[in-house]
Amino acid sequence: MAKSKFEYVRNFETEDYLLPNCWVVVRVDGKAFHKFSKKHDFHKPNDVRALELMNKAASVVMEEYKDILIAYGQSDEYSFVLRKDTNLYNRRRSKLMTYINSLFSSSYVYYWRDYFNDVKLKYPPSFDSRVVLYPSNENLRDYLSWRQADCHINNLYNTTFWALVLKGGLTNAEAEKRLCGTLSSDKNEILFSEFNTNYNNEPVMFKKGTILVRKKIKHPVTDKNRLVILPLHEDLIQDTFWTTHDEILNIKSCGHYSVPSSCDLP
Ligand code: ATP
Ligand code: ATP
Ligand code: MG
Ligand code: MG
Ligand code: MG
Ligand code: MG
Repeated sequence: MAKSKFEYVRNFETEDYLLPNCWVVVRVDGKAFHKFSKKHDFHKPNDVRALELMNKAASVVMEEYKDILIAYGQSDEYSFVLRKDTNLYNRRRSKLMTYINSLFSSSYVYYWRDYFNDVKLKYPPSFDSRVVLYPSNENLRDYLSWRQADCHINNLYNTTFWALVLKGGLTNAEAEKRLCGTLSSDKNEILFSEFNTNYNNEPVMFKKGTILVRKKIKHPVTDKNRLVILPLHEDLIQDTFWTTHDEILNIKSCGHYSVPSSCDLP
């Protein structure tokens, strides 16, 4: 095709190749989900429909991009970890980030009704995203541990906050004041002594978030191996997780796995 005189503007485009040999993390996070969750009457502190919709949208992304080895989600965010030797889109940052973000966002909307049934989607939600590179396995583990610790801290706070409001009759402002300066142990104690709630018995998805991994499992009927995306709600801060799922850091594409009875296959 003949070049137009306008063609030169392409030279204004800059390269954005990601450094080789680093773990690539893409994290998406809902824009103003504090408001979005209110507008759509999310159950407080945790709306299971919303969490499962996030997990569904993330599964669609993992299904499409096989170089994603593990994903971690909590609240309105999801992190996708691409293998460190990925050559997807020649490691172009904006391609990876925008494809993952837009597929995640459109899937969130596409599958909304499957999870929220009659609750009408009132406006199109959007998500921000960023790409972060981690050069070592330790850095990557610390990144995921950071997100899971964040999940725990926020969930303990939110569980106590909403117990004070919904069961204790406090206003939001009073509950916030009551929790100001409290330690984890104080919140556990409030839940236990005032609301007869043992935080340890809260649903594990709320406490740990959701880890999506790829596993080869035997079909119970045909006995054939198939690759599935498996949601786990485990502690990934401890070494045990990484030795049980050693294929992730050892960069094999998948491991054999027997499905824990607590797992729902998507
Ligand atoms: P920003 O645009 O800066 O990300 P935000 O309002 O989305 O602002 P976040 O820190 O991302 O702030 O927090 C997300 C908020 O969304 C939570 O504080 C919570 O109120 C709400 N939220 C997200 N998921 C759920 C859920 N499953 N159940 C109940 N509330 C949720
Ligand atoms: P890439 O992923 O590299 O962008 P692509 O298939 O999207 O690949 P583009 O150069 O973006 O390639 O071209 C978009 C193509 O989509 C067009 O070539 C055309 O075939 C099709 N297309 C887009 N919009 C329309 C439209 N309104 N009507 C008919 N065809 C369309
Ligand atoms: Mg944000
Ligand atoms: Mg957000
Ligand atoms: Mg968030
Ligand atoms: Mg195109």
